[in-house]
Amino acid sequence: MKDYKKQNRKTSRCEVSKKCGGCQYIDVPYEEQLTKKQRRVEGLLKGFGKVKPIIGMEQPLHYRNKVHAVFDFQKGRGIVSGIYQEKTHHVIPVEGCLLEDEKADQIIQSVRSLAKSFKIKTYDEDTGYGLLRHVLVRVGHATGQIMVVLVLGSPVFPSKKNFVSELCKLHPEITTIVINVNNRRTSMVLGDKEQVIYGKGYIEDVLCGRTFKISPKSFYQVNAVQTEILYQKAVEYAGLTGKETVVDAYCGIGTIALTAAGQAGKVIGVELNRDAVRDAVTNAKVNQVKNADFYQNDAGRFMRQLAEAEEKVDIVFMDPPRSGSTEEFMDALFCLRPSRVVYISCNPETLARDLQYLTDKKRENKGLYRVEEITPVDMFPFTDNIEVCVLLSRRK
Ligand code: SAH
Repeated sequence: MKDYKKQNRKTSRCEVSKKCGGCQYIDVPYEEQLTKKQRRVEGLLKGFGKVKPIIGMEQPLHYRNKVHAVFDFQKGRGIVSGIYQEKTHHVIPVEGCLLEDEKADQIIQSVRSLAKSFKIKTYDEDTGYGLLRHVLVRVGHATGQIMVVLVLGSPVFPSKKNFVSELCKLHPEITTIVINVNNRRTSMVLGDKEQVIYGKGYIEDVLCGRTFKISPKSFYQVNAVQTEILYQKAVEYAGLTGKETVVDAYCGIGTIALTAAGQAGKVIGVELNRDAVRDAVTNAKVNQVKNADFYQNDAGRFMRQLAEAEEKVDIVFMDPPRSGSTEEFMDALFCLRPSRVVYISCNPETLARDLQYLTDKKRENKGLYRVEEITPVDMFPFTDNIEVCVLLSRRK
């Protein structure tokens, strides 16, 4: 029996770790976490190709630049903010989190105390009454810009001017505040309607020397330090010479596309989320990248359209959500025949499934691709989530 297991049973370094369930490895020494992840990746992916040692963090705490808290009213306690207990709608009060940006946590505490003094009612999920539902804070790691999103159950926020000025007095580092209205009985945090009540309505961050605009609903990696390492690895794997036509599929706000653009002939990004595509287009302008185009579409359908149009594509980056890619997408890859595919994955299980499809010699495409190298990057210390970057090359 390992010491940490004993320790975990009695005292954990986080008092809510058991109920929260977000940090499976909170009491596991960091080196050991890395070993576990390495073994897991090897177990799932070794059969496809060489697995390099996982790239860990020097300082693995407080890396999350996106912090979410749900608000609730509890008898005897008053207004609380925290997280849902795993698989329930019961809110566990949280004062601070070892993974989250500390400034973001402080801002959430301030929103809570202001909500008390302004007598703002929290939203009741059962009745649908009340105002304050969630608070989302996003911090630009390199720029220090901070966005606060107040998710409200109704668009009517009577004391909003005073609330904003009090919150900004307490935290002058806040650069923008957005109201997001979510009046549906849903487990989704953000609703559709947004109103900017302070600042520009978005923040910027700098990654790999480029500036990125991030809107409230756009996806942005939560760990900026490791994201830079991941993208550098991805671009290195792509082996660009300056002439290639590159597709960045599932591109979010265009981070990989714009990081690679300087070393490519042209880049084409495709992404489903409208706001993210809009951010990507702005990001190309802001960084004076002229050889990048972005399209709002399902990545699979878009790739099929490229294949049908017999477009020439040399390199494909693909960074799908946890569910992985689709056969439609990969069948299009077999038609487009890029010489290299760089697959970035946040779920090694769906990655293994997709690598099987891409490399299977028994299929019609006769294993068109071969895995050259696999590099795990620890984007989510203290949790069991794993990020992996894979280079595939086309068999001659
Ligand atoms: N490469 C980006 C985003 C990766 S996250 C980055 O590193 O920041 C995965 C992205 O895929 C999200 O932005 C999500 O909105 C998008 N997405 C999800 N399903 C999609 C689909 N079917 N087609 C295109 N994009 C999709």
